[in-house]
Amino acid sequence: MSDIVLDIAGLSVAYGQVSVVNELTLQVRRGRIATIVGSNGAGKTTVMKTVVGLLAPVAGTIRFEGSDIAGLPSDDIVRAGLALVPEGRRLFRSMTVLDNLRTGAYLRDDKAAVAQSLELVFSYFPILAERRQQIAGNLSGGQQQMLAVGRALMSKPRLLLLDEPSIGLAPVVVDQIADIVTTVSRSGTDVLMVEQNAALALELAQDAYVLENGRLVMQGPAAELAQSDAVRQAYLGM
Ligand code: ATP
Repeated sequence: MSDIVLDIAGLSVAYGQVSVVNELTLQVRRGRIATIVGSNGAGKTTVMKTVVGLLAPVAGTIRFEGSDIAGLPSDDIVRAGLALVPEGRRLFRSMTVLDNLRTGAYLRDDKAAVAQSLELVFSYFPILAERRQQIAGNLSGGQQQMLAVGRALMSKPRLLLLDEPSIGLAPVVVDQIADIVTTVSRSGTDVLMVEQNAALALELAQDAYVLENGRLVMQGPAAELAQSDAVRQAYLGM
């Protein structure tokens, strides 16, 4: 089996006439965390939405485990094994933690398997088990991000897409996010993460892509990019 889990080639996406992602080529490899870094408006969220079928590409292919999923309906893409944790988390804030988690399994009808996934999520994030009957909107920011990740894991994905997991969170909570991403990856779910917080992203990921104005301007091992002058000046404030 190929070690390339997600293989994006020549991907272009536009909003009407406005081209936002141009000929992007990117790969996520099995067992490794990949990240797309770039400033506000670079097109990162657009890439994520396109991969999970919320936007249709103008051109290009998106292969997941060998099959082209570009342009498929979102439900089919979730069934194929991808899940998105959206920017801003998008929880059902007035519902309980447990009900939020259950919504993540909406396409699965094997109750025993869903119960197993729930136990797995609770084992990753014990605080969610403790607070399962609480209203999601009352959780702290970090706990809400755990819940958003947990909900995505309830579809039992093999590839998790994380859009700006650290946004709006205090530095101490950002450390928790780092732990979450590492936990998920080590448990065998591959990860593609987009981040404005390049320091965090380059620390966590093994493979990195830098997007500017919808174009890939740099790519390589995250540790190498973190040392490059261009990245340090533009994204790490050094
Ligand atoms: P952010 O960190 O702000 O989410 P990003 O890198 O994820 O930034 P995108 O959200 O993908 O960037 O946006 C890329 C470009 O597309 C921006 O110029 C943005 O203004 C534009 N854009 C995003 N959504 C829409 C939309 N629904 N209609 C038109 N233009 C959009």
